[in-house]
Amino acid sequence: MEAKIKAEGWEPQDTKELGSKSLLQSDALYQYVLETTVYPWEPECMKEIREITAEHPLGFMSVTPDEGQFLNLLLKMISAKKTMEIGVFTGYSLLATALALPDDGKILALDIDRQNYDHSLPVIQKAGVSHKIDFREGPALPVLDKLLADVANHGTFDFVFVDADKDNYLNYHERLLDLVKVGGLIGYDNTLWYGSVALPPDTPVPKIISFFRPFVLEINKALAADPRVEICQLPVGDGITLCRRIK
Ligand code: SAH
Ligand code: CA
Repeated sequence: MEAKIKAEGWEPQDTKELGSKSLLQSDALYQYVLETTVYPWEPECMKEIREITAEHPLGFMSVTPDEGQFLNLLLKMISAKKTMEIGVFTGYSLLATALALPDDGKILALDIDRQNYDHSLPVIQKAGVSHKIDFREGPALPVLDKLLADVANHGTFDFVFVDADKDNYLNYHERLLDLVKVGGLIGYDNTLWYGSVALPPDTPVPKIISFFRPFVLEINKALAADPRVEICQLPVGDGITLCRRIK
């Protein structure tokens, strides 16, 4: 990811100009939510990963604490046992998932770069959930194709969290629809892309935002028109679109 950011000339620090990732009315309101509802419930290990992430120059890529809390509760609500995460980074959403699964639950965790995961691994191990995680380093798409090659994997995932290369979301979607079970969920992250999806196209935004904006617009349109899923756009974090496979 660092290499891509360099190659494209993105300046991640520019995302700070956009204010907090929260889509709420004000930063004060968001702080209120964090302090009242999220932080008091945040497990110590998640806090540790959040602190590790805050030190990282690309820390903004992590899901927000309220989104982590949401994912954790959602997975418990659907009694998820077999899940996948595309885009692990420092593992905040991964740990939120791992903590929600039963002891024999499994997460297939995919990332092109394991360095950030490795850095967080001692915290995940200390939390006693590392046995649930099958981390694989490399691009996600070939892994999905390999899974699809064996029909035994079809319709087996309860939940998939997609939070990596936005320019591949629709490629992931086609494959994930065969891998997730009917009634299972796929969560696509960052579908409101810092609010840029609703800005007039010529509004100046940082390069990293303008680069992916057309892809996010395309994803949102395609998901809303897809009869194989029912969907819900949640304004949590930077926007999550939940898709429930219905056929
Ligand atoms: N879910 C994480 C954030 C993920 S950030 C959290 O909430 O903390 C996006 C991650 O996707 C980065 O770590 C990047 O290395 C990874 N990534 C980018 N392209 C990828 C690809 N093609 N396949 C797998 N992972 C990819
Ligand atoms: Ca994200």
